[in-house]
Amino acid sequence: MLKESGQEPQIPLPEKPLPEVPLPEIPIPKKPPTPLPLYKIVLVGSAGVGKTALALQFMYNEFQDEYEPTKSGEYRKTVLLDGREVDIDVTDTAGRQENPDSLNASIRRGEGFLCVFSLVDEDSFKATQDFREKILRLRSVNIPFILVGNKCDLKGKPAVSSEAVTKKAIQWDVPYVETSAKTCHNVEKVFFDLARKIEALKTVRKLPDKPKKDEKPENKPLCQCPCCEIS
Ligand code: GDP
Ligand code: MG
Repeated sequence: MLKESGQEPQIPLPEKPLPEVPLPEIPIPKKPPTPLPLYKIVLVGSAGVGKTALALQFMYNEFQDEYEPTKSGEYRKTVLLDGREVDIDVTDTAGRQENPDSLNASIRRGEGFLCVFSLVDEDSFKATQDFREKILRLRSVNIPFILVGNKCDLKGKPAVSSEAVTKKAIQWDVPYVETSAKTCHNVEKVFFDLARKIEALKTVRKLPDKPKKDEKPENKPLCQCPCCEIS
């Protein structure tokens, strides 16, 4: 029977759960991973001075007493440098002294050089001159470069005179650091210091060019001299 209003009585419908429709999976576009800043370091120096030992100590914290003159390699390590993750590539130029083309190729590719000699081998110190000249023939004079006196744990033995080394470092205008691949003394320091030097050079290269000749530099104090044109 209809009510007076003429409307049908409202019977509440049982609440039916809505069928679950699976949402289409929208792929979230992944950002390609940004490569970490990379610093390419090359170890140069005479045979037996400890280039491989320095590379292995830096890479894997290991030291071997046996000498393998032919051992060489390319290594990469991701490290935290001044709070930033960076990659450091190390080229150990072992065995390349006999192969000048290969050494030259490493010198061309490198962004910074650790020029190593042994503190207990005078000849290896003299040989650094040759390596420096080789590098300067192929690269500019301000290429990041550190002179490294390795085997400082053996310094009690007849050593290269520290005056001679300091003189050389001043003459070349490069830092000089003593290391021991055996005790790990200053090993991380030389790689990190060189990476910082490479970074500094890259930053300078990224800076905008100097103002051109006839461009008026902003905020330049005006000259008070009467013979100068003051505009
Ligand atoms: P490379 O030819 O320059 O690569 O020289 P190596 O790294 O192969 O080292 C030559 C020899 O010196 C090996 O027997 C090493 O164990 C040893 N050596 C390398 N670095 C050091 C060091 O800092 N202290 C000592 N005592 N021995 C070292
Ligand atoms: Mg070696």
